[in-house]
Amino acid sequence: MKVDFLDLKKVWLQNEELCRKVVERTVSTIHSGRFLLGPNVKELETKIAAIHAMPPGSAVGVSNGLDALRLIFKALMELGRLRSGDEIIVPANTYIASLLPLTEMGLKPRLVEPDPQTMNLDWNKALNAVNPSTKGVLAVHLYGNACWNDRIASQLRKRGIIIVEDNAQAIGATHNGKLTGSLGDASAFSFYPTKNIGALGDAGLTMSRDPELTSAIRALANYGSDRRYHNIYQGYNCRMDEIQAGVLSLKLDNLDSESSRRRRIANLYDKLIDNSAIKKPLIYDDLLSQVWHQYVVRTKRRDAFVEWLASHGISTDIHYAVPPHLQPCYSQLEHGPLPITELLADEVVSLPIATVTKGEVEYVARVINSWPG
Ligand SMILES: *Cc1c(COP(=O)(O)O)cnc(C)c1O
Repeated sequence: MKVDFLDLKKVWLQNEELCRKVVERTVSTIHSGRFLLGPNVKELETKIAAIHAMPPGSAVGVSNGLDALRLIFKALMELGRLRSGDEIIVPANTYIASLLPLTEMGLKPRLVEPDPQTMNLDWNKALNAVNPSTKGVLAVHLYGNACWNDRIASQLRKRGIIIVEDNAQAIGATHNGKLTGSLGDASAFSFYPTKNIGALGDAGLTMSRDPELTSAIRALANYGSDRRYHNIYQGYNCRMDEIQAGVLSLKLDNLDSESSRRRRIANLYDKLIDNSAIKKPLIYDDLLSQVWHQYVVRTKRRDAFVEWLASHGISTDIHYAVPPHLQPCYSQLEHGPLPITELLADEVVSLPIATVTKGEVEYVARVINSWPG
């Protein structure tokens, strides 16, 4: 049997009705002659804000997830709420896209170790890392797991610390009934094709309850203009296109079913995998707080494990083998010792979840259970 880690063709072909609607919508967008920042973007922004119980006008469709983060931090700087040299607490165990917008703008990432159980930001360590230069926290809901702590978040906010969410991997996850992306001062979404809700190319989105911040983001994303040919900022071109927005509007209708499907697969893995050499990911008490962007197991002998699966036709991936602070581009980045992050980087393996069938999961679990370790 051959099990792909992820087959993007299947994401489409698995849902014939959605496929048909997407093709229809794309054709009608082409025929409309409006390709950027038109009615489809408006529709997506309205729909996603409503889903997140956010006020109308709080979402801004943009070019991709990285740009969503860049725009948020740039807007915070333009509004004078952050300044070059300010420290932003960031989980050390994250994708590099969480750090790039900070260092680009002269903000200082302060790397904090993850909780080894959740692999997500440890909020107590974040609180301990706060010093007079700390002006922000970037909470990353890694692997589709809501990463939030109401008590500590409100303590941080009382001290004037801005909390931004990197919600690229966790659309649809909730914390105490509230969707991630609606918890902090601003949030960034990604619709990269492999994300839980993926476009047919790049797309992203920002969300915030703060109208001043949202206006700044909207202007910055369109050359810094608040109206045509009137530039209040030295902005970027980070616009969302109409074809992606149309596709995403339709795909959003499937958000709940996609999250449930991923939960069913994760539960099945959890039930079936039984090998003492494999540590399974934590299943949270609140099942809705996980949307399983990745199903990440850990093992001391990762190379041998990955090879065993590959020799049985099963492909896997690693998120992430080299953490940001060990990347060549960050050889000069200041940070303390990060043993938990580095251990995770050596032990994690992501199993197929995006496009697997129940039969494939049963097969993967059998192969795992037969691994001598
Ligand atoms: C994917 C991702 C991003 C960036 O999104 P793009 O749309 O690829 O630019 C940012 N942060 C995290 C955690 C991601 O997984």
